[in-house]
Amino acid sequence: MAAVTIQNVEKTFGTLKVIHGVNIEVKEHEFVVLVGPSGCGKSTLLRMIAGLETISDGEIVIGEKVVNNVHPRDRDIAMVFQNYALYPHMSIFDNMGFSLKLRKRSKAEIEKKVNEAAGILNLVPFLQREPRQLSGGQRQRVAMGRALVRDAQVFLFDEPLSNLDAKLRVTMRTEIKALHQRLKTTSIYVTHDQIEAMTMADRIVVMNAGRVEQIGAPLELYDHPGNLFVAGFLGSPS
Ligand code: ADP
Ligand code: MG
Repeated sequence: MAAVTIQNVEKTFGTLKVIHGVNIEVKEHEFVVLVGPSGCGKSTLLRMIAGLETISDGEIVIGEKVVNNVHPRDRDIAMVFQNYALYPHMSIFDNMGFSLKLRKRSKAEIEKKVNEAAGILNLVPFLQREPRQLSGGQRQRVAMGRALVRDAQVFLFDEPLSNLDAKLRVTMRTEIKALHQRLKTTSIYVTHDQIEAMTMADRIVVMNAGRVEQIGAPLELYDHPGNLFVAGFLGSPS
């Protein structure tokens, strides 16, 4: 069964069409990586799945529900951003529990969920600190924790590691993959880093100028690129 179906989706900003008839079917528990050069529409596509941008044409289905007109709060997704977007003056506990508070969950439930997520992400000792007192890797874990408390079936990642140094990026790749496997979630992960895509993806979606060039398993794409763009993009160092 498909966890997320993107069907003939288009996006126009004013008169500028930035997404052209995109079709992607993400299976349950799959880790799909969207790659492509800067400006090709990766974030826009992810934001449409999350409900942070409207869809100009086509359909997005999450589970069995067409979500075109569903409020982001009511979609079964959680999103992790590149810049963490943590609230600087809230404790780590409050940062992680905030989305549940917005959804009017009880204090007891928030406490349980946050503690559970903090345990999984090794953040228990940091819950009373503020974001500025944490390292880059720890802040990235808090960003994941905020997604985790939601119990969402689908995780969306928009270049979550691009602000981290090279060594930490490698560690966090492994952590994110381990989390995906442990929670049995479905993940859609955006990056412009070919190595990240090759090492993390079950399948890679190569995008260019608002279109999908090719979809396939990493080795499949590497061995049999469908066109020069795909060959050039996957073959060149980031
Ligand atoms: P990527 O994430 O692949 O770098 P984006 O999805 O951010 O690409 O952008 C795709 C295209 O859409 C770019 O040309 C960008 O300038 C344009 N774009 C993105 N957001 C907006 C917006 N809110 N208004 C107008 N144009 C936008
Ligand atoms: Mg982007």
